[in-house]
Order: sequence, then structure tokens, then C-alpha cells
Amino acid sequence: MIRYNLICADNHEFEGWFSNSADYDDQANSGLLNCPVCGSSEVEKAIMAPAVKTARKSEARAKTAEKAMTAIAAKIRDEIGKNCEDVGANFAEEARAIHYGEKPERGIYGSATPPETEALKAEGIDAHPLPDAFVPGADKTKLN
Ligand SMILES: [Zn+2]
Repeated sequence: MIRYNLICADNHEFEGWFSNSADYDDQANSGLLNCPVCGSSEVEKAIMAPAVKTARKSEARAKTAEKAMTAIAAKIRDEIGKNCEDVGANFAEEARAIHYGEKPERGIYGSATPPETEALKAEGIDAHPLPDAFVPGADKTKLN
């Protein structure tokens, strides 16, 4: 069964149930559809705007997702800020020192140039790019 929102020539809106869309066409073409309000047989499917509804829905969904992402990013920033040391531009140097046991093992974050990143990778040093949103203070940086 499918439901259509129908409208008569006098703009009375009502619902009609049909076994399929062809059933609707048959009934409409045979004048079997009548407005329950005025009895008019000039009935057609009301124009719906599913695209608009869908867009609104996905917009709301996107906003919810964005909120969730923002919350997650804030949590990750917080965790990184609490558990890792900001070594700034010395990242490659510090990562290497930790890797070779010259410095105590700890979580660090900072910046590295692409050649530095490549070199770390080549040496088998575990370093991962941090999405901007996960960098501690990223939210504050954006506000300034
Ligand atoms: Zn009517």
C-alpha cells in the first residue's frame, strides 16, 4: 500500500491509500477519487517537497555530526594536551631522541617539515600526522 497526499480543485487536502501508483492512476482517470470535503472528483496528488525536507534533515544531521566531531576533537586535544609534551618545531629531533632511548619515552607532539617526516618514517620512528583540529590549542588559535 502506498499513501498519497491528495488535493482537490478547491485545495482540500486529504490522504488516499492505493495498492500501487498504477492503482492511483486508474482511480484518478476513472473519476473514482472524490474529495471527502466537497466531493469534487478533480483530485490530484499534492505537490510534496521531499527534497527540501531531505535537505533540512541532512543539514540537521550534519550539524549534529559537526557538534559530535567538535566535542571529540576537544576531547582529543585535551588528552593530547594532558599526556603529551609540546615540543614545537623540535618534533623530529625529540622523536628521534626518544626512539633511540636518549630521552625518556613520552608522548610528544609538534611540527615537522615534510623532509623531517620522511626521515622519521625511513628510520622506522612511529609518528603520525595530527589533524589540525586535534592539536591542543587549535580551537583557541582559530578564535584569535
Ligand atoms: Zn474538496
